[in-house]
Amino acid sequence: MADEQRPGFIMCVCTGKCPGFEKMDIWDFINRVRIELPVEYGIIHPQLCEEDGDRYLEHVLKNGPPIVVGGCAPRMQRKLFRDAFAKKGLDVERDLIPIDIRDMTTDEAVNKVIDVLKENGPYDE
Ligand code: SF4
Repeated sequence: MADEQRPGFIMCVCTGKCPGFEKMDIWDFINRVRIELPVEYGIIHPQLCEEDGDRYLEHVLKNGPPIVVGGCAPRMQRKLFRDAFAKKGLDVERDLIPIDIRDMTTDEAVNKVIDVLKENGPYDE
C-alpha cells in the first residue's frame, strides 16, 4: 500500500468487557497492526459508538479518510458511525473500512486485517 494511501486503524474494544474479544490479546493485536502492517497509525478506543466516540471520530476524520475500524460487524459500524462521518462530508460506504474481529485469536485478527488491507489496495508483504 503506498504511503499516501495508508489508512488509520482504530480498534474498538466495546468497553473492554465484551466477550467477543476474550480470545485475543488486544495489546499484541494493536502492536502488530501498527508495527507490521501498512497503516498510518493504530490505536484502541473503548467505545466508538458512544457520544465521545463520535467526537473522537470527527476529530480524527479532520485529517481525512480512509479509516479502518476493527470491532463489531461492518453493517453495525456503518450504522453507528454514519452521522460522525456525514458531519465531515464523508460517506461510511466509501470512507470507512469496517472489519469484524470479534471471536478471533490475535493471529486470526491480524490475518483478517491483512486480508482486508490487501482487498483495499496494494499491499507489500
Ligand atoms: S462500535 Fe461496535 S465494537 Fe465498538 S462499542 Fe460500539 S458496538 Fe461495540
